[in-house]
Amino acid sequence: MNDDQLLRYSRHILLPEIGIEGQARLVGSRALVIGAGGLGSPAALYLASAGVGTIVLADNDTVDLTNLQRQILHTTPAIGRPKVASGRDTIGLINPEVQVVALAERLEGARLDAAVHEADVVLDCSDNFATRHAINEACVRERVALVSGAAIRFDGQVAVFDHREPGSGCYHCLFPADARGDEERCATMGVFAPLVGVIGTMQAMEAIKLLAGIGETLAGRLLLFDARAQRWHEVRLSRDPHCAVCGEPRAAAA
Ligand SMILES: [Zn+2]
Repeated sequence: MNDDQLLRYSRHILLPEIGIEGQARLVGSRALVIGAGGLGSPAALYLASAGVGTIVLADNDTVDLTNLQRQILHTTPAIGRPKVASGRDTIGLINPEVQVVALAERLEGARLDAAVHEADVVLDCSDNFATRHAINEACVRERVALVSGAAIRFDGQVAVFDHREPGSGCYHCLFPADARGDEERCATMGVFAPLVGVIGTMQAMEAIKLLAGIGETLAGRLLLFDARAQRWHEVRLSRDPHCAVCGEPRAAAA
């Protein structure tokens, strides 16, 4: 790292758990952030300010006036622009050292697999179950750690599935695809502005810990947050051995 980087990241480097080695790992890391909205905004901002060297931002949406109440990556002059272009510009102002790869598309199929394959960590900041399940399946296949976040109204949740570890459960173990129920999205429901900041920031925190190899991650636990009551609730996650995504393939019928 050069002198400017040593200064920029000095408050990280002063932490013995991170130090120069941990910071160098962050600078050499690549994070895939899917969704540049309420969760992706604080997540991408903290990954960038903390020095994660390459951030791939994927989102096919444009900035709308109704986004600005909570999507802090975007500004009023960015209304009408692609969210990933707006996000790339904002990140560039905060930390020009970071390389932002802006994908103005809904990542699917082989494109999603390739983006996950190249990433050291994936942050699911999307707002619908179809995307969440597709991201989970790609992360299981490619054995890449997934930091999952969700927020609606006053309720949030965050979980980590470290698919680098054998026997790790997955998002599908927790929320089977056939139990989706009625989908509630921020696009149509209300959402408390700072709630997405809290959950998205937690996602950045867990991602940075995974990348730098520090502390104990949230892997194996689900945190549920009730912003109205200011209460966190923790649930242990166990792997579903018959999970259609991460479970052992069933033996073929004889
Ligand atoms: Zn599973």
